[in-house]
Amino acid sequence: MKITRVTAQRLECPVAEGERNVSDYGPMETLSTVLVRIETDAGITGIGETKAGGSPASADASIAAIINGDLGPQLIGEDPRDITRLWEKLYNGKRADAAARAGRAMPALGRRGLSICALGGIDIALWDLLGKATGQPVWRLLGGKTKPTLPVYASGGWGPAEKIGDELRLYLDRTGAKAIKMRVGAKYGAVDASIARVEAARRAIGPDIELMVDAHGTFSPVEAKIFARATESARLRWFEEPMTGDAKREFAGLRAASPCAIAGGENDFTRFDYVPYLDASALDVFQPDLGVCGGITEARRIGELAGAFQIEVSPHVWGGTVQAAASAHFAISCPSVAIFEYPAASNPAFRALASGGFALADGRLSVDDKPGLGLDLDETYIARCAVYNP
Ligand SMILES: [Mg+2]
Repeated sequence: MKITRVTAQRLECPVAEGERNVSDYGPMETLSTVLVRIETDAGITGIGETKAGGSPASADASIAAIINGDLGPQLIGEDPRDITRLWEKLYNGKRADAAARAGRAMPALGRRGLSICALGGIDIALWDLLGKATGQPVWRLLGGKTKPTLPVYASGGWGPAEKIGDELRLYLDRTGAKAIKMRVGAKYGAVDASIARVEAARRAIGPDIELMVDAHGTFSPVEAKIFARATESARLRWFEEPMTGDAKREFAGLRAASPCAIAGGENDFTRFDYVPYLDASALDVFQPDLGVCGGITEARRIGELAGAFQIEVSPHVWGGTVQAAASAHFAISCPSVAIFEYPAASNPAFRALASGGFALADGRLSVDDKPGLGLDLDETYIARCAVYNP
């Protein structure tokens, strides 16, 4: 089997007016993402998806350009089933043969950032293709399910203290989840405002729902410690991106001082970016984003690193249906994953790009036996959202 064509298409998916929450990244009016198709001479097409975090349209347009103009052409004529070799080929570039002979990475220039997002979208499409070619679901190719279903947590919660309880209850009702993650951090002003919102949230949802918080990397080391200690009675399951991942060294001190788990990693590229977290004993939960980290192949490597250090894995899920399905198939096959992020608002693309891939019932996620990622693309919706056509 040979690859004959690789195309990337940027989509801009509008968020319905009543769903446009405002995060510290700004109002969520659209969700930008990049759809990848890898065609073969066997008539089988693999589907992937990737995006830069936070939906910057120009960044996603650049990812599409990297795939269409650079990485895609390098795959023409290759056997798509050689996924690891192709990942290494694209990561190492012109020195791929030397790297393969030496048994170590000799990465191309531009080995972080948008080129890794592009590689992630291609990698997801290759796994989907392998599944379709072998008649197996991706989770089976990854070694099978480590549990029959996974609990999800509803992801959302941007409102002020007086409204946060109603907002969280709405998302819990929508998903059936027994856990929820709200946003905190600099957007809300002084750290006391975030503490008050968490206290209000815990009062509203009661003692039996697990509660996580996400600061999107905006607290200082001191603010993060104050927040973690002050919210001890709210019994947070985890405190996500308390500080920017640029401050990896500062995470260790926070983790030592915090009564709850510290999570992060959604903005980190490749397994190599997780090594400093391990060196510093900095995190309790790794959260690779399958687009950002380099696809299913790299998420597995990060998952294996995590397992060796008693670290939980919970993939970051805030893209469209294809990336979510890839995350679901990875998560259910990874022994270190215990809970799955399920966007509860402001993300139409999460369920609109395709049917299938994964299902939610009673707050639990499942995947089925269909080949590949099990997706049936909604070409009408995709055509309506397409802003970049190859
Ligand atoms: Mg996050």
